[in-house]
Amino acid sequence: MRFKDKVIVVTGGGQGIGRAIAQGFAGEGGKVVIADIDTEAGMESEQIIQARGQCARFIETDVADETAVKLLMEVIERDFGRLDVLVNNAGISYKGNILTDPVAQWDRVVGVNLRGAYLCSKYAAPSLIRYQGNIINIASTRALMSEADSEAYAASKGGLLAMTHALAVSLGPAVRVNAISPGWIEVRDWQKRSRAETPVHSFEDASQHPVGRVGKPEDIAHACLYLASSEAGFITGINLVIDGGMTIKMIYAE
Ligand code: NAD
Repeated sequence: MRFKDKVIVVTGGGQGIGRAIAQGFAGEGGKVVIADIDTEAGMESEQIIQARGQCARFIETDVADETAVKLLMEVIERDFGRLDVLVNNAGISYKGNILTDPVAQWDRVVGVNLRGAYLCSKYAAPSLIRYQGNIINIASTRALMSEADSEAYAASKGGLLAMTHALAVSLGPAVRVNAISPGWIEVRDWQKRSRAETPVHSFEDASQHPVGRVGKPEDIAHACLYLASSEAGFITGINLVIDGGMTIKMIYAE
């Protein structure tokens, strides 16, 4: 029960990786606030945790909206009186061709993935400083390597890594700030009920990972629990790559 009576906000905690992170903190005694733009997903995620007798509260939030983020942090302060951990997980993945794509797509992807994390960090910071808390930013291995047509997403995640070390310096020593870069994490079976699917993976899907499998949301949740705990008290400003070894494997064409 490493997080007994601690208050944790997980943005994008309605489904996918964020849902697993929210369940992880709630399972260790935390009071979890699920801040998600999707009401159906957020309420479902809240109910799953509450049905286990654990503490969760859904607050509908668009992390790219400054007014909404300010209000989120005010409600947490009013109702919980403290904030110990912020997990900036909300994100949208996007592929689009730079020659034809409207610039508005760039603005939305960077607005949610990077500006959203900045806004949440800014308005959570006073409480995190007071309670010696920490921030975990969910970036991506796509901050480090690319497929075509991923400029906005890659830039948003690269920016998140840079913001992580900047924040670690600005907010230290009171607040530790770290990033996790997931590789391929299978989230189809962690979506809201109306969208969930049973995943199927090929031999190649698994074998391109040195660990021999695709990632699971729990792989990321376990690392969040560690980084947010006092056991990680000497760790700040890092980027923890969790990708089953995919980015360290050299690939030559046959
Ligand atoms: P997902 O789509 O399953 O879940 C994302 C959640 O974020 C959803 O519940 C969605 O409603 C919410 N969200 C989206 N925009 C929002 C906004 N503006 N405000 C608040 N909530 C918002 O995605 P996922 O695969 O679980 O990804 C979670 C995070 O992990 C993202 O930041 C993503 O970039 C990152 N990531 C995922 C993978 C992967 O393979 N799944 C790999 C690397 C990084």
